[in-house]
Amino acid sequence: MTAPKAKTHPAANRAWRRRRMKLFQSILRPPDKLTVTECAERYRQLSREASAEPGRFRCGRTPYLREIMDAFCDPAVEVVVWMKPAQVGGTTALENVALYFIVHDPMSMLLMQPSIEMAMAWAEDRLETMIRDTPRLGKVVAPSRSRDAGSRKLKKRYAGGVITITGANSPRSLRSRSVPIVLMDERDAYPFSAGKEGDPGKLAWKRAQTFPYRKRGDISTPLIKGASPTEAEYEKSDQRRYHVPCPHCEHPQVLRWEQLHWEKIPVAEATEADRARPGMIEHNGKLHLTETAAYTCEECGVAIDEHEKPGMLAAGAWVARHPNRAIRGYHLNALYSPFDGARWAKLLEEWLNAQGDPSLLQVFYNTVLAQTWEERGDRLDATTLAMRRELYAAEVPAGVGVLTAAVDVQDDRLELLVVGWGRGEEAWIVAHHKIWGDPQGDSVWKRLDILRKKLWRHESGAMLRIQAMCVDTGAHTDRCYDWIKPRQGQGVWGVKGDRNRGKALLIKPGKAKRRGIRLLIVGTHTAKTKLFGRLRLEPERDKDKRILPGKPGYIHIPLAQDDGAGDDFLMQFENEKLVTRKVSGQLVRQYIQTGPNEAIDLMVYNTAALHTLGDAVRGHLGQWVDRVNADGKGRAVKTIIDRAVAIRDAVDDAAARFAERLARDAEASEEVTDGADAASDPELEAGDDEKGADDTPPDPAPAPALTPRRPRKKKRRRGGGGWISGL
Ligand SMILES: [Zn+2]
Repeated sequence: MTAPKAKTHPAANRAWRRRRMKLFQSILRPPDKLTVTECAERYRQLSREASAEPGRFRCGRTPYLREIMDAFCDPAVEVVVWMKPAQVGGTTALENVALYFIVHDPMSMLLMQPSIEMAMAWAEDRLETMIRDTPRLGKVVAPSRSRDAGSRKLKKRYAGGVITITGANSPRSLRSRSVPIVLMDERDAYPFSAGKEGDPGKLAWKRAQTFPYRKRGDISTPLIKGASPTEAEYEKSDQRRYHVPCPHCEHPQVLRWEQLHWEKIPVAEATEADRARPGMIEHNGKLHLTETAAYTCEECGVAIDEHEKPGMLAAGAWVARHPNRAIRGYHLNALYSPFDGARWAKLLEEWLNAQGDPSLLQVFYNTVLAQTWEERGDRLDATTLAMRRELYAAEVPAGVGVLTAAVDVQDDRLELLVVGWGRGEEAWIVAHHKIWGDPQGDSVWKRLDILRKKLWRHESGAMLRIQAMCVDTGAHTDRCYDWIKPRQGQGVWGVKGDRNRGKALLIKPGKAKRRGIRLLIVGTHTAKTKLFGRLRLEPERDKDKRILPGKPGYIHIPLAQDDGAGDDFLMQFENEKLVTRKVSGQLVRQYIQTGPNEAIDLMVYNTAALHTLGDAVRGHLGQWVDRVNADGKGRAVKTIIDRAVAIRDAVDDAAARFAERLARDAEASEEVTDGADAASDPELEAGDDEKGADDTPPDPAPAPALTPRRPRKKKRRRGGGGWISGL
């Protein structure tokens, strides 16, 4: 029996003792308290597919990130706001913060993306690859298996917490349990309200209010001036900017776009050699040589070459404008970027190519300068809409052939908008009702039913009913379903908006999973583009400035009536802005809500309601207008004949009775009897029956008629004297 040679070997013994010492040390010694940057530099491995520079994370090239990331572990800081451009490492910084709160200082987190789809993309493309490539993280969090349900990918547990990734458009996910750390990515692209529950950013931050130690990160590319929560927060912050020293005079300064200079050659003087130079862009009569881009020091005026940038960045520092404010705010533009994709020449190229194209300019302002974009020119203006209000000749003007309605469910009311459609989808807003009350109760829904069955008086004299109605099921969904289900065969539809671009205006899926409701999915992007185009149409006017009918697509707005197309209602049309965003490198045009927008939704869902009637109606609206008018006119003529006949009969009767009375009076005067039949005068009773017969009573049958109702055959009473009240 001999002991294993290795164990007795002195070198092996020493090695074993060293290992044992290390083990004891690691157990006994408290863990190093790392900053977010140190934690990232120790553990983080950048993924091949997600990073231009894969491998170990180093903060050296992007030294400006250090302070921003470390603000998240600074006990004195609660809120960190960063107005960021693209291509400066912002995404990586956010991931590093998440990494820190998973592996180093474990706490629960809510990571919010603009939508559930983007949350899913972040979970799959960012978090999963980070877990795969960062061994320390892989030990703590299990990667998802490909067959895992989406909900499992959006929630990851680790010792000490759980990270929940959520979409700002999903109010339900915002009601999840409380978390101390709330990270908001691309907050400016969040919907104005999560469902009907208000600002998703504020809702999320409320989740953290019970924790004495809490953090909020608000990291976003700014979008629209006046509608940018990130800019608003930055304005309230200490407003830090990264100051870098000039390599020539050492004057510290913030890099500004105006200080970038490059060679320009007038086209007339350009040689062939000039034209062949790399990065040449012809614009506005000049050749712009983008490769000559250099930065001019604001102090000494010397041109700074781009290769001097790394040195400047390394020597830079964040300087606060309002050092005493509690919110920590950072602003950085892409001129600082050390990455090849954001070289000054490339940015300049982007700038020149965007000239004359507002949507590209907007992208440049947002993603390069990290500034909000102020819309000019094609803004939809509520005042212009208000100037177009007109007085209709009847409840429903003559140009209308079909009526539709849309219902929006709020916490304290239902809103109903009735729209009339004519030739070429010319539209008339007919009525707007706010039905106040709790949508969980019955009362509002009963009142809605009354309005749904109401008959609307057409200018021709015909009576119209609402042929199709769409109810937005986005809020109080179960209650909506309860009401819609028994009315599905009567032209009532439950609808849901889908804001993804490229969706057709109306999609009919099969049965929804719940309650057998045939839910319609409305492509709201398409519908809104159509709506805003139509709202911008200028009306035709006659010589007295009155608006004329007959312009396809034009939307007529009535002078305020009932709850009306009042100022508040018209103002809502301003509350959606079309912005261009870069999503995974692609330019995406998207509507961003900037205030209450029920008016827009109601118009969109009315358009959807028109589509539910199919081509037989929508493709032949002109014929429907003609039919309604013919029907109404026929009805009007018939009424006149009826009345004429009634008058003639009544006159005849009266004459006959008068003759009778004269005869009786003559007899009576002979027999000296007086006033015998005055009490039972038939004229008085007949009058009540005939009165109001001209008003067709509402049809109690619940089904909306597919054809405009023909007037009911009127019972004519002969012999009554009530024709006077009947006129
Ligand atoms: Zn200088």
